[in-house]
Amino acid sequence: MANTQIAAARSGTITEEMERVAERENRDPEFVRKQVADGQAVIPANRNHDALDAMIIGREFATKVNANIGNSETTSDLETELEKLHTAVHYGADTVMDLGTGSDLDEIREAHIEHSPVPIGTVPLYEAVKQAGSPEAITTELLLEIIEKQAEQGVDYMTIHAGILAEHLPLTNGRKTGIVSRGGSIMAKWMEEHGEQNPLFQVFDDICEIFAEHDVTFSLGDSLRPGCLADACDEAQYAELDTLGELTRRAWEYDVQVMVEGPGHVPMHRVAENVERQQEVCDGAPFYVLGPLVTDVAPGYDHITSAIGAAIAAQSGASMLCYVTPKEHLGLPDEEDVRDGLAAYRIAAHAGDVANERPGARDWDDALSEARYEFDWREQFRLALDPDRAREYHDQTLPGDNYKEARFCSMCGVEFCSMRIDQDARASENSPRPAETDQSQTEAMARLETETDLESSPAAEVNRPPVGTHDSDDLPPIDEWAEQPIDSTGDD
Ligand code: SF4
Repeated sequence: MANTQIAAARSGTITEEMERVAERENRDPEFVRKQVADGQAVIPANRNHDALDAMIIGREFATKVNANIGNSETTSDLETELEKLHTAVHYGADTVMDLGTGSDLDEIREAHIEHSPVPIGTVPLYEAVKQAGSPEAITTELLLEIIEKQAEQGVDYMTIHAGILAEHLPLTNGRKTGIVSRGGSIMAKWMEEHGEQNPLFQVFDDICEIFAEHDVTFSLGDSLRPGCLADACDEAQYAELDTLGELTRRAWEYDVQVMVEGPGHVPMHRVAENVERQQEVCDGAPFYVLGPLVTDVAPGYDHITSAIGAAIAAQSGASMLCYVTPKEHLGLPDEEDVRDGLAAYRIAAHAGDVANERPGARDWDDALSEARYEFDWREQFRLALDPDRAREYHDQTLPGDNYKEARFCSMCGVEFCSMRIDQDARASENSPRPAETDQSQTEAMARLETETDLESSPAAEVNRPPVGTHDSDDLPPIDEWAEQPIDSTGDD
């Protein structure tokens, strides 16, 4: 019997990793075991990945987010690659795919695995092309050799482009953007040059044996995913999906865990259809989607166009979302792009979890809302999805430590702060609504009024407490206000 999570689950064993996942997800360990046994969830956990903190990917669990990192021919050094891993994990990536195609691939991959608490995924086909020199020079022996080496190194899951078949290629003839998956275009080129079937499909059983030995999880690549709205949900995409369903069942026969990759570019009204179809065709194996982007017209903002699709996909049953950064279609993302992309995707994932009433998901929203209504700015920052960004934006206009207790911010100003007005109304004797704020807030406001150095912030000029005491005629013109230096050194 294979020594994999799914094999253990099927034999009735609750592994250490399942216990850990149950703890992280606030679920019963037996429920986790059953989900893994049935192939409805995967725990990517290569036995050689010692630093891993086990996590689970499945539609009954919190939606996960993947970030892609990796070097290229032009940017390549170990320290930079480790920094990218750190950035991705710091901003909340649940898994990281190392898509490096530059130099020192083995050294970098091993360092990633050694340091990463999250599962590491790869696309071994990329290394095969690099070694072979061109797509058509790849051999099945080389593919298996690289897959085995990466499995031994401790890679937790691998994208395997085994689902694109020779008979699918003519189905892409009428497409606007052809084959946009890197792996898909490589496999298509190989098949056309050799006049043979996809080599990854041909040796799929050998790959299953390697994966069973090291407990590597399949991420079955969607080589024919649509690259634009016009190509979404076409015959080519769905023909490959049928093959991915067959491969899912074949991998399960080897006690190997499987998730299935999905599109791509899909209009909003067809996102749910994609998820439902994959779940049906692949017998509930977790769906791992890239976006999808719901419009093609916003290069520079594709973290947003795709997070919209990702949120719908998460609500519809996708288990993991592969992030897209603002640089998608335009260039290699930098650290700020990674941050923005991850924030957009964590929002999408969490919105899906709230909609699906995942245990504890809404508690986060409620806690932040309470902190907001209580004007507990420090708690609001702490609970924020990106605490640094929330604090940074707040402190751009109200940097002083004393403003961390203010009953307003610079958005509406103290006079028009609706929450303050509402609280004051509720606190009035005649209010039919109970006051939920306590005396300490009133005291804090009074302290703020007497202790605040109103000159320390340009925003204070327009938000000067107490209400209604400033003369709006004295306010500096907005262009002058914007030009004044902002003192951010007063932060706590
Ligand atoms: S000033 Fe406006 S945005 Fe700021 S806390 Fe009050 S209601 Fe919210």
